[in-house]
Amino acid sequence: MSDQNFDLVVLGAGSGGYAAALRASQLGMSVGLIEKNKVGGTCLHVGCIPTKALLHAAEIADAARDSETFGVKATLEGIDIPGVTKYRESIVSSKHRGLQGLIKARGITTIEGEGRLTSPTTVQVGDDTITGKNVILATGSYSRTLPGLEIGGRVITSEQALQLDHVPKKVAVLGGGVIGVEFSSVWRSFGAEVHIIEALPHLVPMEDEAISKLFERAYRKRGIEFTLGKRFQGVTQDDNGVVVTLDDGTTIEADILLVAVGRGPSTAGLGFEEVGVEMDRGFVLTNERLETSIPGLYAVGDIVPGLQLAHRGFQHGIFVAEELAGLGPVVIDDVTVPKVTYSEPEVASVGLTEAKAKEVHGDDAIASYDYNLAGNGKSHILETSGIIKVIRVKDGPVVGVHMIGARVGEQIGEAQLIVNWDAYPEDIAPLLHAHPTQNEALGEAFLALAGKPLHS
Ligand code: FAD
Repeated sequence: MSDQNFDLVVLGAGSGGYAAALRASQLGMSVGLIEKNKVGGTCLHVGCIPTKALLHAAEIADAARDSETFGVKATLEGIDIPGVTKYRESIVSSKHRGLQGLIKARGITTIEGEGRLTSPTTVQVGDDTITGKNVILATGSYSRTLPGLEIGGRVITSEQALQLDHVPKKVAVLGGGVIGVEFSSVWRSFGAEVHIIEALPHLVPMEDEAISKLFERAYRKRGIEFTLGKRFQGVTQDDNGVVVTLDDGTTIEADILLVAVGRGPSTAGLGFEEVGVEMDRGFVLTNERLETSIPGLYAVGDIVPGLQLAHRGFQHGIFVAEELAGLGPVVIDDVTVPKVTYSEPEVASVGLTEAKAKEVHGDDAIASYDYNLAGNGKSHILETSGIIKVIRVKDGPVVGVHMIGARVGEQIGEAQLIVNWDAYPEDIAPLLHAHPTQNEALGEAFLALAGKPLHS
């Protein structure tokens, strides 16, 4: 039994927690970082990084399959899942070692074990009491399921999907959001038959409707099946596979069912409510400075209502550390958080959808332009199609940018600056975009919206 005291105690070492710890240590605070599993959390171990390694392998499989288009004779002999796993794990373990080294180099004390909040300034880890002048809650999220839908056997979540030692022949995917379509894309490239079930009217339903429709067209072309606007009713499983029943009586047979219906906050049983933290359905409520209902106690990342993304967690962590060092005040705003759906094709967006922009500013106040990637030289070379849609307030700033096409996520950084800084298309139109790049398409969209289209 021992007592340890720090300027800052961080409960959970995922994207939000470790970013807070790294920034706070940089600012001269002593930091105790409590982690029950591995530093790096969901994103590094079972989220962003391993899935992107899978997608890269999938992209190579597609390139081999399509090589003749480019006059290259390559044959895809098959997918060696143990080989893919080795590649994926080497990336994760190398990033994990790097992060451990960084945490150590910054003088952060890592405390291994499951923590429980026992007062606004103390966390109990086994017999040890860890005290901080301030505490940040950063316990992350878990794969949610639906009432009556039990995970087990052939019904799996993204965590088990990463561990599969073979490519299933036929997969049913419950949920057409980011995680569902990401795995669908990989499995399709690896040769599986895929059927996505989405209760809302579109795949990637959080995106601008024009983008969702193009995404559906691209998935149809890839032979990915989907059922939209139908609800899951039940599933049975035996040695041969699963049978999923929908609310209209339709059944879908598959080898496995991936449940990708969102992520819930990992806050149950951790003492938050007992200490008096205001919560809503398991999420921790905060003000715009990420302070909970208890002064001096903060929350970051996926447990805070809103977008559940690693870079949002990083931003939260950095902001709270700076706030505690007197560098604030900071204001958190989800509207300018860039979002990428990693898939073939990729989707990237920032700011308002057209429907939302019209709701906020009025139908007549909004102008938008869809730049077709068919007009972009590099997209032709890469044999990719898609659009870049830019939404502005008439005679006003850009309020939304939405893209679909190969690797468009690499361009969302520029779009984020534009939306964040309330730039006008007229500000961006004269700026150069190197030729031939796909990024040029973004420049062309602004040229068009500023009334001087070049290649469109
Ligand atoms: P987490 O990363 O979940 O970290 C929380 C940490 O707290 C964990 O390490 C956990 O072990 C620890 N912990 C929990 N309770 C306790 C306790 N009581 N005591 C001690 N430790 C505790 N986001 C993106 O931006 N881009 C992507 O491409 C992307 N891909 C994803 C793909 C998948 C399949 C999944 C599942 C998620 C993906 N995400 C992606 C989301 C991203 O992983 C999360 O938004 C991010 O990890 C949230 O960070 P966090 O710090 O809030 O929580």
